[in-house]
Amino acid sequence: MQINLTGRVALVTGSTRGIGRAIATTLGECGASVAIVGRDKGKADAVAGELGGGALGFACDVSDTAAVASLVADVEGAFGSLDILVNNAGLTRDNIVMRIRDEDWNVVIDTNLRGAFATIRAAARGMMKRRWGRIVNIASVVGLTGNKGQANYAASKAGLIGLTKSVAKELGSRNILVNAVAPGFIETEMTAVLTPDQRKALVGSIPLERLGSPADVAAAVAFLASDHASYITGQVIVVDGGMVM
Ligand code: NDP
Repeated sequence: MQINLTGRVALVTGSTRGIGRAIATTLGECGASVAIVGRDKGKADAVAGELGGGALGFACDVSDTAAVASLVADVEGAFGSLDILVNNAGLTRDNIVMRIRDEDWNVVIDTNLRGAFATIRAAARGMMKRRWGRIVNIASVVGLTGNKGQANYAASKAGLIGLTKSVAKELGSRNILVNAVAPGFIETEMTAVLTPDQRKALVGSIPLERLGSPADVAAAVAFLASDHASYITGQVIVVDGGMVM
């Protein structure tokens, strides 16, 4: 079984590094034209240049809903379509609940959840007209389980799962499929802050006895974006080495 996305246009938010970059690379390898998005235009252009294959870089802070509307219009203008939307941009501001400041709550919700809502709202119009669309939201296992010290982040990811299921129900009749991928612990800058002891304890709780790689997540996204997944919508695919089951 091969995944062929030739002729499809994909937009991946937060694709200047980490999981988003791996997703953009994999979608490009499958034949899609890819829009690389981060807050820094220089970094987005550099990643697009490395990907080749017609990839283009765009600057956008997804927590700015007006900027997101312009981004989608710019991508549709540059590529002539937008078929695959991957909401990957995300950040953490971890603390115990009593110490979470309003600004740390807001930036996490505004980036991880409202950003995804804004891109979906902007991209859905064209997808509905074309009667084809794939939306994949990058959630997290903590959106399913909750996590100490991550009330804001877990709430944003749980919200993303509710958003995924609601939009899947709304847009299914237009052949727009909406799913979430919930990674466990993946080797990126976000998890580079773990101490050796934390890492050891973590690996001990994972049946496959390792952290995941960005490519592990990207493979699930490419499958959901493909025609092989044409009867799957509203689902959360967990990519965590069996940590949560
Ligand atoms: P990184 O911190 O390595 O990368 C985050 C990416 O998002 C960067 O490209 C960054 O680009 C971009 N970004 C951050 N804020 C914004 C914003 N406001 N607007 C646009 N782009 C933004 O994170 P990961 O690769 O580790 O994580 C990617 C996604 O996967 C996140 O949603 C995260 O919550 C999720 N996830 C990660 C896990 C892990 O173990 N790593 C586990 C579970 C889920 P720039 O700084 O250039 O703007």
